[in-house]
Amino acid sequence: MEEKMQVPLFDLTRQYKKIKKDVLKNLDAVFTSGNVIMGSNVKMFEKEVSNYLGVKNAISVANGSDALRLSVQALDIKKGDYVITTPYTFFATASSIVLNQATPIFVDIEEDFFNIDLDQVEKVLKTHPKKERIKGIIPVHLFGKTVDLERLENIKNNYKVTIIEDCAQSIGSVWYYSSGDKKCSGTVGDLNAFSFFPTKNLGGYGDGGLVVTNNEKLADRVRKLRVHGASKKYYHDEVGYNSRLDEVQAAILRIKLKNLDYYIERRIQKAQYYNKFFEEKGLDKYINYPKYFDNRVHVYHQYVISVKNEEERDKLKKFLKENGIETGIYYPLGLHLQKCFENLGYKEGDFPITEKATRTTLALPMFPELTRYEQEYVVRKIKEFYASF
Ligand SMILES: *Cc1c(COP(=O)(O)O)cnc(C)c1O
Repeated sequence: MEEKMQVPLFDLTRQYKKIKKDVLKNLDAVFTSGNVIMGSNVKMFEKEVSNYLGVKNAISVANGSDALRLSVQALDIKKGDYVITTPYTFFATASSIVLNQATPIFVDIEEDFFNIDLDQVEKVLKTHPKKERIKGIIPVHLFGKTVDLERLENIKNNYKVTIIEDCAQSIGSVWYYSSGDKKCSGTVGDLNAFSFFPTKNLGGYGDGGLVVTNNEKLADRVRKLRVHGASKKYYHDEVGYNSRLDEVQAAILRIKLKNLDYYIERRIQKAQYYNKFFEEKGLDKYINYPKYFDNRVHVYHQYVISVKNEEERDKLKKFLKENGIETGIYYPLGLHLQKCFENLGYKEGDFPITEKATRTTLALPMFPELTRYEQEYVVRKIKEFYASF
């Protein structure tokens, strides 16, 4: 019998070994300077990340959830307004709407990609009884692959709705336009939100977030909102928040940003290994795995498979756990069925593709430092699980 391995879903410590010297050097400089709030690292990081993404303004904030919440407020979305979004995402996507007293309209996702279904978005924009009150759309580039940015841009122009891209999982992902141009996720929406939560592709050692935009006015508004709505210290134009990125996190993120393309390359390579192993072992009979498409660059924040037979997902998860392999379920319950959104009036059956995904998907270990040996072990164990059928 082969030896049991421990394979984590995500591991921050392996990466630290490689960047430790640089991290400690930058942190020492921060602590020595005594300048720990809104210092030079925050300014430089904002500049460097806006260059990386090719946008005019990058405004760092305390976390990705705030990046969304401040964006909704900066677009003047408020009580009586509606915002279209997906029920298959992290909670913060929809709470950003509700925290601004507006109402989410959920629409279902696409079967193979798990992203919001833009056909249905257009249908709602055309036929919803309150369609004139629909102010915005928050699409999510789920697991690291962009929604169709070309189509999103067309919807933005044709329906005059504002767009907030939720890029928490997608930094660096790209969409190729039919003209041959390409754009990064986070460059089409009016305001676009990123997260630097430690597990994200660009993750700090604590919380962090970012809003990006090419619109100067909106950028100024977000800059104000993150410091209690003050345009000048102690003079408040509106009620905002305390939502700043720490100097300490910025100092670390600057190092990681330099390596981001390398981290993404490694993730893509890991995804290709998984795909190849699954194919070789004939596992495509039992599971779907993320296929490669040449119109986008998927950055594999998560590598998510789905089982073809619903009954098997939880058993597979348990079997892998018994064999030392950690997996994740993103997400076990659609947002339309969350208790806190009961008042919105959705019920089971409203979004069948989302509901199916909550029962069939499983995220496998994925991070840049995952070894080929570990991946082979994961696939071998999945094969072993299905061999018993
Ligand atoms: C992580 C995440 C967020 C929130 O980011 P935090 O930094 O954890 O607040 C929002 N949306 C999605 C899709 C996410 O994955």
